[in-house]
Amino acid sequence: ITPTTTAAKATTTTSDSKDVRDQKILTGDRATGQLHLGHYVGSLKQRVELQHLNQQTILVADMQGLTDNGNTPSKVADNILNVVADYLAVGIDPAKTTICLQSGVPALSELTMYYANLVSIARLERNPTVKSEIQGKNFGRSIPAGFLTYPISQAADITAFQAQLVPVGDDQLPMLEQTNEIVRKVNALANREVLRECQPLLSNISRLPSADGKSKMSKSLGNVITLDASDKTISQAVKAMYTDPNHLTVDQPGQIEGNVVFTYLDAFHPDADYVAQLKDHYQRGGLGDGKTKQILTDCLQTLISPIRARRQALIADKGYLIEVLKKGTEQAKQESQQALDNVKAAFGLNLL
Ligand code: ATP
Ligand code: MG
Repeated sequence: ITPTTTAAKATTTTSDSKDVRDQKILTGDRATGQLHLGHYVGSLKQRVELQHLNQQTILVADMQGLTDNGNTPSKVADNILNVVADYLAVGIDPAKTTICLQSGVPALSELTMYYANLVSIARLERNPTVKSEIQGKNFGRSIPAGFLTYPISQAADITAFQAQLVPVGDDQLPMLEQTNEIVRKVNALANREVLRECQPLLSNISRLPSADGKSKMSKSLGNVITLDASDKTISQAVKAMYTDPNHLTVDQPGQIEGNVVFTYLDAFHPDADYVAQLKDHYQRGGLGDGKTKQILTDCLQTLISPIRARRQALIADKGYLIEVLKKGTEQAKQESQQALDNVKAAFGLNLL
């Protein structure tokens, strides 16, 4: 479900991330599984560029992962290093980017508790992403309190690092809107700018669909192509992709709208002119789905193969991954203290 109304209201920036500089950037991912191609085009690729000219922090959101895994916490614990390995495998450099673990930064939990007093349950229930996730997860009447309130904890994450820019997929726009509401409330309490508002940075592909085209590619929906997928897995996934159901023979004209193969070619093929030619040919007739699928398979295999190789080496060295995370978390702990002190002062709680 697309949160269209909210998306339309939010101030969005579609990036050419190469032009972004001197910004404080915060992004993150739930530690609920390996990262996938949706993460790659939605956010990871930009982060690799952004880290050169900006101060970037990336949060492995283990506590947010628990909000719908309270009874299955090993799903989160087992995936923390998977996510760190994915980051490093795509080229996020721990010397340039601070990679930290949410549960290791106490200021994030503390800020969440303060902000929780500024947000109503009704407002949380209106958040369109939370609303559609609640429906999808079949919580019934037993919605975990942590799940309903995760937008508050996300506001804590963003403001703790005083982030100006948040590279995300479009499902996160309602979260940033709620964050900025909290920022305005804290500033109003203090009658000065204690926190600053953030802006989303959307990539051109801000919601990569799953192969069937029916929903977004997402860990919890189990419809992903991971960043270490084998050549065989990739080719099977592409073979099963939704195209134009009325394109029955090669010589017939085909439709590219809603055709997942073309959505992916747009997202992943390095040569946009070539993809434009393919689209023309397909719409004219004479280009079969077998051919377009082969082109996409080659393209994805070429993209994933070196990432997979790097990832395999990284995951075999858990000690190194832990070291990276420890160092980043220590840095994040120090950095987040200032925002926490400022927010406590805004509530007048700075006696000691
Ligand atoms: P889960 O199903 O556990 O929520 P997820 O696959 O949705 O996992 P998240 O960790 O929630 O992944 O998302 C991390 C970041 O990746 C967010 O900024 C989100 O917008 C972005 N993202 C996730 N899936 C996609 C996608 N299919 N297309 C573009 N961006 C995506
Ligand atoms: Mg998600």
